Amino acid sequence: MRSTEEPRLLELAGALRHLSPRQRAVLLLHDLARMPRVEVEARLGVGPSGLDALLHRSREAARELLEAEREPISCARAAVLVRMQLEQELMHVDRAALRAHLRTCATCPSEARRIRARSAKARGGCR
Ligand SMILES: [Zn+2]
Repeated sequence: MRSTEEPRLLELAGALRHLSPRQRAVLLLHDLARMPRVEVEARLGVGPSGLDALLHRSREAARELLEAEREPISCARAAVLVRMQLEQELMHVDRAALRAHLRTCATCPSEARRIRARSAKARGGCR
């Protein structure tokens, strides 16, 4: 039991580190500490629907990060995926891998912005 549990906890800790502070807080308070909803809402300053939305986004982000840790994509692959995304050719699963990579990579987010900016300029030109 212990040997299968520990890597998962480590993976989870790694994923949590890359979430935004609010996403991390809602998962820790609601899902792990099992704090009552009204208390979580008060702490995070959201209403019931806001809490639902935040929980949904945070769980999705955490799942993507966990998947990305199991099957990481390279920076070169990330650049390809950014271009595919611009052409709207990206499948749901690739989009998740790309989002997770961009969240954890030190260099790719700025590269992705460059690619997107270049593409926006190319589309804007009237020829
Ligand atoms: Zn990268």
